[in-house]
Amino acid sequence: MQTANSLSMSFLTLAESLHCAVNDVLLATKLDEQDNLASFREEFYIPSLGEEQPSPFDEQQKPKIYLCSNSLGLQPKHTEKKLLNHLETWKNRAVGGHFFGTEAWASIEDVPIPYLAKVVGALPSEVTCMNSLTVNLHLFLLAFYRPTPRKHKILIEASAFPSDDYAVQSQILLHGYSPEESIIRVAAKEDGFTFSENDVLDEIYNNVESLCLILLPGVHYLSGQVFPMEKIARTCQELDIFVGFDLAHAVGNVPLHLHDWGVDFACWCSYKYLCGGPGAIGGAFLHYRHANKGIKELPRLVGWWANRRETRFQMKSSLDCTPGVFGFQVSNPSVFSIVPVIAALEVFDRTSMLQIREKSIQLTGYLAFLIEREISDDIDIITPREPSQHGCQLSLRLKRHNLKQVHEALTCRGVVCDTRQPDVLRVAPFPLYNTYREVLEFVQILSSILRSTNS
Ligand SMILES: *Cc1c(COP(=O)(O)O)cnc(C)c1O
Repeated sequence: MQTANSLSMSFLTLAESLHCAVNDVLLATKLDEQDNLASFREEFYIPSLGEEQPSPFDEQQKPKIYLCSNSLGLQPKHTEKKLLNHLETWKNRAVGGHFFGTEAWASIEDVPIPYLAKVVGALPSEVTCMNSLTVNLHLFLLAFYRPTPRKHKILIEASAFPSDDYAVQSQILLHGYSPEESIIRVAAKEDGFTFSENDVLDEIYNNVESLCLILLPGVHYLSGQVFPMEKIARTCQELDIFVGFDLAHAVGNVPLHLHDWGVDFACWCSYKYLCGGPGAIGGAFLHYRHANKGIKELPRLVGWWANRRETRFQMKSSLDCTPGVFGFQVSNPSVFSIVPVIAALEVFDRTSMLQIREKSIQLTGYLAFLIEREISDDIDIITPREPSQHGCQLSLRLKRHNLKQVHEALTCRGVVCDTRQPDVLRVAPFPLYNTYREVLEFVQILSSILRSTNS
């Protein structure tokens, strides 16, 4: 993999061959011309409006510079048609829709599986779409967190995403233990944001006797740091500790190999980089090694959708549990929430996570390179700089400017990105639709705001 240094060199060399400065639009244009994912931008709607009411005087809205796919990915153009088709089926065939067509509702969760399996590096029998992220976390925690007085601890990271933290706390309370005693929080490094692999592994080794489960992010929501998932998963397997990953910020962002790494379980939402739409149905992974454990060996909460499809409608009172992750399904999936996920995955399937990652390293690398050259007096990049440790997102800490003021000024100038108090801007160029020219324009806009705003 390229290093931050070799990437910087490649930008400098390209600029030199074009006889231009590195912040010249010529360089960005050249990078866009060389981009073999460039045509994917056409597959998405680029928004031109935001939270504000549109002004009636300003009819020709310019497309935004959208750098917020860490929060909500953009809408693929064919999502609407796919949704309308299902509305038509409901209108014209009603209950007949359960068994009509290639996306029959009774088995619609089968449709995204082959695509998802590729995106997360899983066998098709290891993944499904169901519920939402935190609900899936709870379902897996109920099965895998079986505390005993000796082994009752869960390891998470300090400053975990609140929903994950609350889920873990509530599971511990549910079993009659206390979060104060049963949660181990790996401390961040001195910077307060990022984590060292050694600190994570040390905490695991130091608590082997009492650790029951590890729940960590694949990519951290605040810093954008990629966690060493493979190393952590292999260590946990050796030590016989269950490991689950929250992949909210990792799925569709970095290549994953959940099966090969031996991860026990994982879940994610589909509305961030996966572009599945607001509140889209979530995803879940259960490793094959647990596939044949029924509800006695691996107790869990179930509903009729955990029953094997062949016998589901015999309506028996005893569960005929489907092997694998499908045995964790509770309810029939929401069709209008899964269809946009299918639509988005169809776009992903026309390329690969490797190609997406290759561009992402260049695109986010270019962003980091420009920021360091142009505005490093005012901005610290808190995301680790090596490409192996970051995905699309860079988290920018303002050294002296007011976050709200800078964010408002960016919004006024057509940039969409988000903030985390007190001083962090999150910007995430996404390879399927962002361009190098947008990245350059963003840095120029931010630079001019920083210069013109009081610090
Ligand atoms: C986005 C995100 C969530 C959101 O959870 P929902 O259950 O989908 O509301 C949870 N955890 C992390 C780490 C996230 O980034």
